[in-house]
Amino acid sequence: MSTPRPSYADQLAARARALATACVHAGDTPDPESGSPEAPLVLASAFEFDSAAEAAGAFKGENDAYIYGRWGNPSVDQLSAKLAALEGAEDACVTASGMAAITGALLAFCDQGSHIVAPRAMYAESARLLRDRLPRWGVTTTFVDGTDPDAYAAAVTKQTRILYLETPANPNLAITDVAAVAKLARGLGLVTLADNTFATPFSQTPLALGVDVVVHSMTKAIGGHGDAIGGAVCGQREAIGRVRELVVKGLGAVLSPFAAFLITRGARTFALRQRQACESAAILAERLASDPRVARVHHPSLPSHPGHALAARQMHAFGSILSFEVCGDGGQGDGSAIARGRRLLEGVRTITHAVSLGDVKSLLVHPASTTHSTMPPEDRARANIADGLLRLSVGVESVDDLWGDLDQAL
Ligand code: PLP
Repeated sequence: MSTPRPSYADQLAARARALATACVHAGDTPDPESGSPEAPLVLASAFEFDSAAEAAGAFKGENDAYIYGRWGNPSVDQLSAKLAALEGAEDACVTASGMAAITGALLAFCDQGSHIVAPRAMYAESARLLRDRLPRWGVTTTFVDGTDPDAYAAAVTKQTRILYLETPANPNLAITDVAAVAKLARGLGLVTLADNTFATPFSQTPLALGVDVVVHSMTKAIGGHGDAIGGAVCGQREAIGRVRELVVKGLGAVLSPFAAFLITRGARTFALRQRQACESAAILAERLASDPRVARVHHPSLPSHPGHALAARQMHAFGSILSFEVCGDGGQGDGSAIARGRRLLEGVRTITHAVSLGDVKSLLVHPASTTHSTMPPEDRARANIADGLLRLSVGVESVDDLWGDLDQAL
């Protein structure tokens, strides 16, 4: 007798069980002096030495005494250890924001004149960094169709150092074959860097698929409560040491201990929140896809999604973010679809009309006029980011209430 395939809900429950204990306990450093099971929130900018010998030794790296807040802090280190456990990384370096993590990781593995290959569909501020900012320092990028590993291969030059991935892509949920790009990079001696913010370690662990470095905006699902900005870079100890030296100690993109405290507290329920959000996202994607008022829905859980089979192979879950376009009246240029999309944004009541994602609250946004407005319109078109696209980050509210809200707003 064959064993029945587990339902998606069972699969999500199993993933939550696999991560739940690490979410709660990983990185914890109880405080024996006070008896607190939690590391206390340490706000000190400088730490007192026991002796001159300890101070000199700390500067030589001969002991692990804390020296100065930009170089290390117990509340910040606790979060680094938790995140490394969630991503299955040897080490993690937490940073002031997701963009600090991305900028720092790119700079740590590039020299002047280096070249990067990146997908066309990605978070717009990352695309702007690659397109407009890094060329000032001689670092250039070729943007390719992220769904085609051969396009990555074709874009590689003698100067290429990094193959950049963002899958599912923000905001159109395009899926990249992570193992194929990682294999290509390994063969050519290049570094693969994956932004895993959208997927989160609940739904995807790129290091296990052969990626070298994972970056995160912890502002999103890891923190999960919309109250702290932070980022992280995860990978092997040597690589992360290099990133920490440059990004945190050198460039000063240090995470504040208070933000680390808030994100650590949020991360304790990360698996539980993602289990709920991923389940609701798949239900909403299915309902929207079968609704005649909706023209298109992008979520890898849908069998109609071009990356569905690949996502099912390489992801633990399909994630908690989806995007969709409402129907227009079919007129020329169909600007009515965009106008209706905007009306929907203004009509939601339970869902919050705001940027960001991964929050306990469901967040709805119109990328073309907000998060992706800095991307030139022709780049958006080539990246398959439609002008009428709406992005919904599904939170942990009741899925029936979320559907009721979308239904009345549609
Ligand atoms: N990466 C992705 C996929 C994002 O969506 C964002 C922000 O929205 C970032 C990185 C940047 O993160 P932060 O705002 O923490 O700098």
